[in-house]
Amino acid sequence: MTTQSLEAEAKALNDRLESLDLAGRLALVAGLEGRAVFTTSLGIEDQVITAAIGINRLDIEVATLKTGRLFNETVALIEETEEAYDIRIKRYHPEKADIETYVAQYGMNGFYESVEARHACCGVRKLRPLARALEGASYWITGLRRGQSGNRATTPFAEADPERGLIKINPLADWDIETIRAHVAAEAIPVNPLHDRGYPSIGCEPCTRAIKPGEPERAGRWWWENDEKRECGLHVAEAASSIIPNASSAA
Ligand code: SF4
Repeated sequence: MTTQSLEAEAKALNDRLESLDLAGRLALVAGLEGRAVFTTSLGIEDQVITAAIGINRLDIEVATLKTGRLFNETVALIEETEEAYDIRIKRYHPEKADIETYVAQYGMNGFYESVEARHACCGVRKLRPLARALEGASYWITGLRRGQSGNRATTPFAEADPERGLIKINPLADWDIETIRAHVAAEAIPVNPLHDRGYPSIGCEPCTRAIKPGEPERAGRWWWENDEKRECGLHVAEAASSIIPNASSAA
């Protein structure tokens, strides 16, 4: 599909998704032609989406990137969620050879030393596995919300991702954190216990700290870096090719 046609489809989808509730948005995408993949980090937003997929038995694949550096609480939540909703969450791991190359060049925790080293680690532990998870997919569902950071303030419901050749769907784009929390409580959705210990956004253990009152939701991610727009590259359009060569075709 050309970039132009991807953008046209994303724009039309965006308009259709806007007036629907969460289950309606997901059902719409599940009913489209082509594979739909939801990648979950097991964060609170993603748990809301997983629950809706499971409860409504929607034809959407659920996948997670098991980076090898996750919190134990996050790993435990994968199985707990599978049992709660009778679904399978497909795990994607980094390649052993990629990790060995990274460790040889930067050291196991080399990501603290430079932005380049950090991007390289996210490249091998997240971006390459993500490329495998999305291979052949037409729709990529995420838990991005406009309120998560200034960087995400204009998140649409549907957007073209020409680099990956698909359309990204953000069905919680207009939900705020209070609505998310109320929904989780009302539906008794299992969530990561770290959220109650000051971690609104949870990534890999060595790269996530609890935030202080008043800090932005994602302030605890890669906290030692100064760039306020720091991301792991999953949701930055040009990241896949700029961070790791051939990432978009990595399998
Ligand atoms: S978040 Fe940290 S440990 Fe995880 S892949 Fe990125 S740099 Fe590596």
